[in-house]
Amino acid sequence: MRLGRVASPDGVAFVSIEGDGDEARAKEIAEHPFGNPTFTGRSWALADVRLLAPILASKVVCIGKNYAAHVAEMGGETPEDPVIFIKPNTSIVGPGVPIMLPASSNEVHYEGELAIVIGRPCKDVPAAKALDVVLGYTVANDVSARDHQRKDGQWTRAKGHDTFCPLGPWIETSLDPSDLDIKTEVDGAVKQDSNTALLLHTVPEIIEWVSAIMTLLPGDVILTGTPEGVGPIVDGQTVSVTVGGIGTLSNPVTAKR
Ligand code: MG
Repeated sequence: MRLGRVASPDGVAFVSIEGDGDEARAKEIAEHPFGNPTFTGRSWALADVRLLAPILASKVVCIGKNYAAHVAEMGGETPEDPVIFIKPNTSIVGPGVPIMLPASSNEVHYEGELAIVIGRPCKDVPAAKALDVVLGYTVANDVSARDHQRKDGQWTRAKGHDTFCPLGPWIETSLDPSDLDIKTEVDGAVKQDSNTALLLHTVPEIIEWVSAIMTLLPGDVILTGTPEGVGPIVDGQTVSVTVGGIGTLSNPVTAKR
């Protein structure tokens, strides 16, 4: 199932998106998409609604340095354990919403990533049972101000600016996350082209690691790390991240004035 959140002529709603192309429709879900969602019976043509960030997260937990080739390009060492950090939920935006470049940074990078969306409250989840707590998967861009990252020594400012966590276009609930192509394009030029089979820490291992530290709530998002090929985005460009089996998340880039 493709789960999304839309602004419709009748208000904001969680939806199931069914069909493709001109036939695609957004079917309204009553209340929330967790558990066994029920439907109101109302639906809209997908073309008549605006896709929003597909979930409201209490937190966005991110894994750093989780593809060897990206660790190498950053000049670091491959960590034995997952390195985690948090992006504030206020950094989340949906598809098509401009990434706002802060005036304080001269070096903002895209980072295309597979994102896990948690489906139920959980703590201390063993890897063998980790997929049971997953609602589904979406596409993320872990936008990062490299100059802030270098200067601060920790990553809260670099990763936490408003609009620095585009998510979408929807959540795919029936997906094996272990072998998905992941590609990032800037104005149509391919910059990152990898596969989740190259994750150093797999999706189940990540959920075990993070849930051993903190309680995860329905809607929480875990970014699994970016492959090699990170680079700058500037005013006027459009950055698109595609994950196989999910779809493409595109956002324009705008300098804050
Ligand atoms: Mg990242």
